Amino acid sequence: MALGEFELIDKYFTRPVRRAALGVGDDCALLVPAPGMQLAVSTDLLIEGRHFLSTVLPDRLGHKALAVNLSDLAACGARPLGFTLGLSLPQPDEAWLEGFARGLFALAERHGCELVGGDTTRGPLAISITVFGEVPAGQALLRSGARPGDDVYVSGTLGDARLALEMFRGAVSLPGEDFDRVRRAMELPEPRVALGQALRGIATAAVDVSDGFAGDLGHVLRRSGVGATLEAESLPRSAVLARQPPEWQRRCTLTGGDDYELVFTAPAARRDEVEAAAREAGVPVTRVGRIDVEPGLRVLGPEGRLLAADLHTFDHFKTP
Ligand code: ADP
Ligand code: MG
Repeated sequence: MALGEFELIDKYFTRPVRRAALGVGDDCALLVPAPGMQLAVSTDLLIEGRHFLSTVLPDRLGHKALAVNLSDLAACGARPLGFTLGLSLPQPDEAWLEGFARGLFALAERHGCELVGGDTTRGPLAISITVFGEVPAGQALLRSGARPGDDVYVSGTLGDARLALEMFRGAVSLPGEDFDRVRRAMELPEPRVALGQALRGIATAAVDVSDGFAGDLGHVLRRSGVGATLEAESLPRSAVLARQPPEWQRRCTLTGGDDYELVFTAPAARRDEVEAAAREAGVPVTRVGRIDVEPGLRVLGPEGRLLAADLHTFDHFKTP
């Protein structure tokens, strides 16, 4: 007997809530932000074939669907509270649902982020999560705060997810162990939630890298009315990516996408505090450039040669 909509919700997506006043089961959920906090809200929509490959294991998909949303909260310096899940499924496949829920809740529990509601419908495989977080009023990290003279930082490493995608496309080939590592980066990104919160009051601007480093930094530059100069070589990359041809390294780090690292700016006088925040969060950060008065992004190659300016980001309506 096929699983009905309400049995499916009961069995896979109904969990007791601790922080919310009301979770799954009524017409609305009720969240309780602490006094003096602002609610931070973000939505991401993931479509099969567009944002994920049909070959991805369901538990990894469950992880990633929430991870990309938590990454947005991280970029704002917000603490996760809860989320809603919109799910469109071709059929109620229990093995798939079990894996998906396992990956989803494992990450949710690590971040104290409760599933409080959603909607379930039959249709092409698609997942839309809206996440809710809280941040002390006026302290959210925004894209608009970068100032000339600030340092530009990036957390973790860039480019592995893109390298994995190119491997799936057949454009590069990697030994099995290397492929597993970059595939994990693509399918199991770790949202930098602790780092985002630790950077409140230190970083002047922040964004998470979903569409590619250069493009996402570009959003910060435009919103802040500034520019930036950085050296391509300074961008942090994994040992696996560092073994690829230089051209691929540059492409993957600068415009790769799906990294879910934080790019942020901070005054040069606060380098020690940035380092302390990174240590506290247990995430390495690398200083990669500086903010200039002149608008645009300048990427320098060997011997300070201008490699590229204003690299483009992934755009669903412009990128083939
Ligand atoms: P309504 O008709 O009022 O929109 P539904 O009948 O669609 O409500 O859903 C019943 C309850 O189950 C609601 O509390 C809703 O938030 C919850 N729900 C539905 N789908 C999901 C899901 N995928 N994950 C979590 N909760 C869900
Ligand atoms: Mg409904």
